[in-house]
Amino acid sequence: MSGTDGGSAQDSTTSPQRLPLLDERAGAAISTEKSDWMDAFRDTLLIQCDTAEAREASSLVADRRGAGLVLTGSDAPVAARALRKHGFEKPLLCDAARYKGNGRYPASEPFDNQWILSQRKLDLPVLTDSGYVGEGDVTGLRSILARSRELGEAVIACLPLHRSWLGERAWLTLLEEEIRTSGVAVALVLEHPGDPLGVQKVLRGLLTLLASGSPVLLLRSDVSAVGALCFGALAAAAGTTSGLRHLYPVSNENGRFRPAQVSVLIEHCLSYVGADKVATAVQLTPDQVERWECDCHTCNGRMMDHFATILDRGEKQAAAYSHSLEILINVHERLRFSSLTPNQRRNSWIEQCSVAGFYHLDIGRSVNGNWTIPRFLESWRAVGAEFLEPEGAMQELPRG
Ligand SMILES: [Zn+2]
Repeated sequence: MSGTDGGSAQDSTTSPQRLPLLDERAGAAISTEKSDWMDAFRDTLLIQCDTAEAREASSLVADRRGAGLVLTGSDAPVAARALRKHGFEKPLLCDAARYKGNGRYPASEPFDNQWILSQRKLDLPVLTDSGYVGEGDVTGLRSILARSRELGEAVIACLPLHRSWLGERAWLTLLEEEIRTSGVAVALVLEHPGDPLGVQKVLRGLLTLLASGSPVLLLRSDVSAVGALCFGALAAAAGTTSGLRHLYPVSNENGRFRPAQVSVLIEHCLSYVGADKVATAVQLTPDQVERWECDCHTCNGRMMDHFATILDRGEKQAAAYSHSLEILINVHERLRFSSLTPNQRRNSWIEQCSVAGFYHLDIGRSVNGNWTIPRFLESWRAVGAEFLEPEGAMQELPRG
């Protein structure tokens, strides 16, 4: 396992129920006249990339509906300025990612004024450069929310959270109340050694927060970002690389090496899978042949095993990158710009996860079990159903 979670300095034995809420100046819900930025971001799938990828990602996103970017890194405002200068007009956020890595900052760390100002100058919503909110770190959580509120309008408090905040009922209730009474929009970053939303109670916590009415964004996610949008996230970000699709706990093994794989998004499986494994699956599941043919600009009708045949790693990465990004935005676009009611849209997402699970099972049988079915698919199927409106749900099954 990956060691301890840093930044958990607060007394985690304190019962969350007994803690008083941050309720002074409560009810300061974000006023509607100040929420133009929210209208611009509403229901947007954000592609979260490193600043080095900013130009490439922006060109892939520029003419897509309901899409935007999160630039990640301390130089994100510089990259953002360059994009705006080149005419990129889509929703844009800057993520300082100071919550990440073995040298990450704790939640109590003051914001960097320069970071705040540089986003203001670009007329972007300010995403705070928060440190990590460890298990039970109520003081840190409140500190971020209070300082964010003091920054005024168009501010998003970045909340990089230990998984217990969403996964444990008492902490979730406290988190929900703290966010609500602060009146601040929040962007969640969920820490987990694997996929946080593969854990049903964490997904349940997320959907509970999304249903609370407070403006909530989700950062550093993956295909689940599309699901989060179906269930009420103001905006949600999917990372372009596995490192940007997760927040891993800190390692006490001197930075455990994670070999970077070139993964591609398989649309009918709703999952990122290594290019070589995809090639094997393509060979061994001829009954899915029409599913393996991809019409994106990169594949141009080819079978998806072509990625594995690209020898140059940079080339392979670039092809996987543009394919995956286009496919993910397609998945979002079809749900977002449909005639489905919100409840039908949720139903449709759950159904897609369920069907993807069946494809995985089929592939798993064909490759003699050497295949992992991502747990988030079952999470969405099981937990998502709890958040459907009961009336009419049976009649609203999607049309395939
Ligand atoms: Zn493709």
